[in-house]
Amino acid sequence: MVTVNGINSGWLPTKVGVPQGSILGPILFNIYVNELPGLPNIKCRHKLENWGTRKELFGKRCEHCGVFIGFADDSSLIFSGIKKDNNKLANKIDSKLLEIEKFLGNNNLKMNVSKTELLRSTTRQQLAWNKTETLKLNSLDENGTQIIPNKRAKILGVVFSDNLTWANHLET
Ligand SMILES: [Zn+2]
Repeated sequence: MVTVNGINSGWLPTKVGVPQGSILGPILFNIYVNELPGLPNIKCRHKLENWGTRKELFGKRCEHCGVFIGFADDSSLIFSGIKKDNNKLANKIDSKLLEIEKFLGNNNLKMNVSKTELLRSTTRQQLAWNKTETLKLNSLDENGTQIIPNKRAKILGVVFSDNLTWANHLET
């Protein structure tokens, strides 16, 4: 129901999603997407690699599978990899993006591809050294073109740059 200038609309049921602007909304949203943060780790096959590490002992997320960080509807997936591991890393990101898209689709949600950014961070020296090396994802953006790494990405208003300096953040 919506109230404008004291006049009430009729009642309609909410069949999908959570009621906007409601007190219960944020809690219902958290319940709605509860499985999303653990999604990259569901099919984890790195028990041996993580054996005896903090990840295994304290139930931390597996870095090989990617770490999910979410704030409300803003989500980030973080992967780590070594130099010359670009193909492996790109495959990993592609498969996790597909899994997440599938989860969202099954829950009547949709990833905002136009707001999806890819940032590959490393040291300034590595960046200069590996200029020709780049991540090539098979995942496409909303125009059907490949998602390529940005020089910077904004996460919750903070600008992260590919050379791990705050210069971009200070300029904008
Ligand atoms: Zn794993």
